[in-house]
Amino acid sequence: MFTMHPILVEEFLDFLEQSLLEVLHGKKGTNELVEEVQDRYELVADHVLQNSEILEKFKQLFEYIEPVADMQPERAIKRVKNSLGMIERFRDWYLISNPDCSQMKQPSCEIKYAKRVGPRKEAILKKLGISTLGDLIFYFPRDYEDRRKIIPISEISFEGKLTTRGKVVNVETKKIGSMTITAAVLADGVSQLLLKWFNQEYLHKGLQVLKNKTIYATGLVKHSQFGGIEMVNPEIEPEDGTQVLEILPIYPLTHGISQKEIRRIVRENISCVCHYTDELPEELMKKRKLMDISRALLGIHFPKSNYHLKKSIERLAYEELFLMQFALLLSRKSFEEIGGLPKKIPGKLAEEFLRKLPFKLTDSQKEAHRQIRADLMSNKPMSRLLQGDVGCGKTVVAQLAIVDNFEAGFQSAVMAPTSILAMQHYRRMSPAFEEMGIRTALLLGETSSREKEKIKRMLSDGEISVVIGTHTLIQEDVSFSNLGLVIIDEQHRFGVKQREALVSKGKALDTLVMTATPIPRTLALTIYGDLDITVIDEMPPGRKDVKTMLVSVSKLEQVYEFVKKEIAEGGQVFIVYPLIEESDKIQAKAAIRMHEYLSKKIFGEFRVGLLHGKMSQQEKDKIMERFATGEFDILISTTVIEVGIDVPRATVMIIENPERFGLAQLHQLRGRIGRGDKQGYCFLVVGNVDDDALERLRYFSMTKNGFEVAEYDMKLRGPGEILGLKQHGLPELKIADLIRDRELLFRARNDAEEIVRKKEQYPDIVKKVKTIYGERLKLVKIA
Ligand code: ADP
Ligand code: MG
Repeated sequence: MFTMHPILVEEFLDFLEQSLLEVLHGKKGTNELVEEVQDRYELVADHVLQNSEILEKFKQLFEYIEPVADMQPERAIKRVKNSLGMIERFRDWYLISNPDCSQMKQPSCEIKYAKRVGPRKEAILKKLGISTLGDLIFYFPRDYEDRRKIIPISEISFEGKLTTRGKVVNVETKKIGSMTITAAVLADGVSQLLLKWFNQEYLHKGLQVLKNKTIYATGLVKHSQFGGIEMVNPEIEPEDGTQVLEILPIYPLTHGISQKEIRRIVRENISCVCHYTDELPEELMKKRKLMDISRALLGIHFPKSNYHLKKSIERLAYEELFLMQFALLLSRKSFEEIGGLPKKIPGKLAEEFLRKLPFKLTDSQKEAHRQIRADLMSNKPMSRLLQGDVGCGKTVVAQLAIVDNFEAGFQSAVMAPTSILAMQHYRRMSPAFEEMGIRTALLLGETSSREKEKIKRMLSDGEISVVIGTHTLIQEDVSFSNLGLVIIDEQHRFGVKQREALVSKGKALDTLVMTATPIPRTLALTIYGDLDITVIDEMPPGRKDVKTMLVSVSKLEQVYEFVKKEIAEGGQVFIVYPLIEESDKIQAKAAIRMHEYLSKKIFGEFRVGLLHGKMSQQEKDKIMERFATGEFDILISTTVIEVGIDVPRATVMIIENPERFGLAQLHQLRGRIGRGDKQGYCFLVVGNVDDDALERLRYFSMTKNGFEVAEYDMKLRGPGEILGLKQHGLPELKIADLIRDRELLFRARNDAEEIVRKKEQYPDIVKKVKTIYGERLKLVKIA
C-alpha cells in the first residue's frame, strides 16, 4: 500500500530488501525496482540523517542501486546481490547499539544498591519480583512506544497509534451523565487535534498549567464523530529538551511507580548487561546469525531500531526455546542411556492378528505400527507419542504393539485415566488377545481385594501377559515378572511423574503414549518434546463425517423433533450445556431444571439422563456407563463428557451456547458421536453472539480435521487455552511465543537434537538446563 507518510531509514531498508529479493526471484523487474525505490527515497525523514556519516552511507547505498535499471541483466543482478550485503552491514553498523560497559555492577548486586533506587523504590521493585540487578535486566517490557517519528498534526491522515507534537491551546472538562470528559486542543499553527480523556478529571489541572506550552502526545488517532480527528487517552509529555526520539519500553507495572521512573532506573543500570556472556554454542550463534547476549539484553529494553528489537527478541526467544528443547531431549536421552533390550519380533503373531481383523489397516496405521515395531526392536527404549483424531484407529495399533511385545516374550500394561475408560479398553482389546492365548486382566481401584491379590500374583509370576487398568497399576505393590511395554492412554491426565512411576516398574521399558487430542505441532514439541511423535492423519475408509450445523435458538423446536425421529430409529442423543456461571452449584441447578423441563415437557416418552459437575467421579462414571449401554436415550450434561467414552449408538449432539467453548473442545465433543456406521449430527445452538464468535463457529462447522481446528483455535485463544493445557504443564515461556516464533522453535529443536548428541562437549549447557528444568524433567538424577 502506498503511503505518503514520512518513513524512517530502517523502513526504507526493509522495503529495499524486500524489493531486491523480489527482483532476485524474478517477481519484479529492475525498472520497477528503481522507480519504487526512488519514490520511497523521497519519503525518508529521519533525524539520524543529521549525522553526516550515516547520511553519506545511506546515499551511497541508494546511488549504488539507482543505475541498475540501465545495466545488463548480469551486472544488475550482481549489484542487487551486493546491495543485500550492504543493507545487512548498514543495519549492523547503525541500527544496533552497543552497551556502555565503562561502569558496571554485577547482576547479583542487590537492587537497593542500583542507581536511582532508594528504600521506597526498593520495596516497590521487590513487589515486582526484582531483588537484584539481574532481575531488573530480566524484567522485560510488555510493549514499546516508537517515538522516532513525530508526525505533524497536519499530516495525520489515518487512524492508528502515533506521536505528534503541538501547543496546548484550550482545556476543558465536561460532565455527560456519569462520565466526565477532559479535552484539550493541540495546535501546530496549521492544524488542530482534539485530545480526549475519559473519567480522568485529575488531569485537568496539569493540562491547565501546560497551556501555550509544547507537548508530545502519543496515542490512538481516530476520526471523531464531528468530522475532525481526535486522540483518545493519549500519554502526554511536555517538551523540555530532554526528549529522546527513540523507541521506549513500556513495562508491566504496579502501583507506586511510573513508566518514566522505571525506564530511568533501567536506563541508568543497563550497563549491567555487559556482565552476561553467551552460553549458546558458538556454532549455533554463527549458523543462526544470533546477536550476542549483551546487545540483545540492551535491545530488549532500549532498542535502537525495530531491527535491533527484532534481533534481540529472536536471540532471547531462540535461547529459551533451545534450552527447553535441549532439556526435553536430554531427559529422553538419559532415559535411553539406561539402555534397552532389543526385542526379537518375528512378526508371525501380528500377521495372525491382522488376518483376523475384519478390515485392512490404513496406510497411516501401517506406518505407525512399523515405527513402533522398529522402536521395540532397537536397543534404545521406545518413548513415543501416538497422536490421532478420535476414531482414526489407534486402538488397533496399540494392540499390534502388545502382540509384538508378547511375541518377544514380554508383558504389557495399558493405563487409562478412569475406570470406565480402562473397562472400555479391556472390552475392546481382550477378546482378540484371549483368542490368541494372550492372557489379559483388568485391574481397577474398585476390583475386589481377593481378585486384586490374584491378579497381582499372576502378574508377578508372569501368568498374565497384559494388564489393563487405572493408576492402581502404579501402586508400589504391583510388580511384574518382565514388563516390556507400557501404553498410556493419556487424554491430558497423566503427569510426567505418574508416567515415570509406571515406567520404573520394568527394566528397559518401551513406552507408548496415546492421545486423541489433536494439538498443533508447536505445542506437541513443547509438551511432548521428550517423545518421538507419530501422527495418524487418516480416517478408516467409509467413515461418515459428522454433519455440523449452526441453528438459531428459535429453531430449537425443530431440532427436538429431529431428535425424536433419531431416537425412534435407534439413535442416542447428547445435550450439552456449558458452564455459564462460575459456580458449579448454580450450574448444576440450571441443568437439573433443564433436565426436569426437557424430560417432562419435551421428551416425556424417552429416558433422559443427567450428568453434572456436582456429582462425584463415581456417580459420573455410573451415569456415563448407563448411557453407553443404552439405558438412556438422551443425556443432558453440563460438564465436558468423558473424553474417550465410546457410545456407538449416539448420533446427535446438541450444544447450547457453543461460543463458550474453545473450538478444540467443541471438536472433542463432536468426536463423541457418529462412532458407529450411522450418520452423526452436531447442532450448535446459537443465540445472540457477536460476529467474531459466529465466524469461529462457521469455520468449525466447515472443518472436520482436528489438527486444523486446533491450529485455528490456538491462533485465536493462545496456546495455554487449548484444552486447559496450562494445567498440563505447558512450560512458562518468558519471551518466546509459540505462534509468532513457530519457525524459530523448529530451528531450535533441530539444533538441540544436534547438540544433545555431543552433549559431552557442552557441560555448561547441560548444567544450565538442569538448573532451569531439573525439577520438572527430573534431570537431576542424570550424572
Ligand atoms: P481411536 O482409538 O483412534 O479413537 P478406534 O481404534 O476406537 O479409534 O477405532 C474406531 C473404530 O474404527 C473402531 O470401531 C475400529 O474397529 C475401526 N477401525 C479401526 N481401524 C480401521 C480400519 N483400518 N478400517 C476400518 N475400520 C477401522
Ligand atoms: Mg527397544
